[in-house]
Amino acid sequence: MSKPSDKALVPFVSVDNMMRLIHHIGVEKMLRGLADYVEADFKRWELFDKTPRVASHSAEGVIELMPTSDGEVYGFKYVNGHPKNTRDGLQTVTAFGLLADVGTGYPVLLSEMTVLTAMRTAATSAMVAKHLAPKNAKVMAMIGNGAQSEFQSLAMKAICGIDTVRLYDTDSAATEKCARNLAGSGLKIVKCNSPEESIEGAQIITTCTADKQYATILTDNMVGSGVHINAIGGDCPGKTELAPAILNRSDIFVEFPEQTRIEGEIQQLDPDHPVTELWQVIAGTTPGRTSDDQITLFDSVGFAIEDFSALRYVRDRLSGSDLYLDLDLLADPDDPRDLFGMLLRAASDTA
Ligand code: NAD
Repeated sequence: MSKPSDKALVPFVSVDNMMRLIHHIGVEKMLRGLADYVEADFKRWELFDKTPRVASHSAEGVIELMPTSDGEVYGFKYVNGHPKNTRDGLQTVTAFGLLADVGTGYPVLLSEMTVLTAMRTAATSAMVAKHLAPKNAKVMAMIGNGAQSEFQSLAMKAICGIDTVRLYDTDSAATEKCARNLAGSGLKIVKCNSPEESIEGAQIITTCTADKQYATILTDNMVGSGVHINAIGGDCPGKTELAPAILNRSDIFVEFPEQTRIEGEIQQLDPDHPVTELWQVIAGTTPGRTSDDQITLFDSVGFAIEDFSALRYVRDRLSGSDLYLDLDLLADPDDPRDLFGMLLRAASDTA
């Protein structure tokens, strides 16, 4: 990428513009597009720089940086996770992210990623379920009906063809909100009064709760053979959703083992408990589901490459659109060594 002759402006996608982009494309079409980008990047997994995310923990939550590069483009996301935030009217998860040109180090995109993270997490879940869930799965239990839940439901519809979602949340207001938002989506919505009721007849079980503790959203006796579990909410040390006995009966699929062993459900297991890396299933070198009665578990924590794919998807849709603002983010004097001269000229300009 060459350096522009004028001021180096950085395209910025605001929350408003992200929402316009999603509506312009259509939610389900964009979820399918994001899943294609994530799948394509999982297929070229080996060429990426990979590192567990850099986390700063506090009693209330965590703030994380998630970097990666494919050698040509570098990306990172800033993201937080604060389960108690909703009590004060704040989001549990907020994020923004950046892509940069590896050749110059100049940023080429800055974007909101709170909405985009919900889209990419859902697209990744459904792309993984396409590989692991029982064929012709039609019913999903959706446990935890917060910010991610509608996105998860619509992605499973758009990418895996489910037609029914069975909702459960300890807070019935969250279930009402989710049911209201999904009315008119074409999904059959069933509101349930217990987690046991929600998993009746479900081939896919999604857990997407937020609590900073070793929670037991699913107990061992609740999970029958043959299901696919999409475990989203356990994504931090000391924050899990599944009883360890379920893990011992499941074939476990992970994004990046070095990160998932710290943050995922498998933090509850021995450090050498066998897991399968998803990219190998997606690249076709390792089998995914091999029998009808197998329990497959996607121990999702969210990995930097998925954010990179999502930012790539957004960047590819901006040219010729009015969906971004040009940000004056980089000091870029005409004479690169005369940064101070640029400052002096600014003083005379403002005099
Ligand atoms: P949120 O706070 O908006 O919603 C969480 C919901 O879980 C709330 O409605 C809450 O009432 C419910 N809940 C809490 N305990 C429960 C229980 N025992 N049984 C049933 N419901 C319960 O949060 P969100 O933005 O929807 O995120 C959900 C989780 O997903 C968080 O833990 C977040 O960190 C995680 N997350 C993971 C990824 C990933 O890539 N794996 C990405 C985004 C978010």
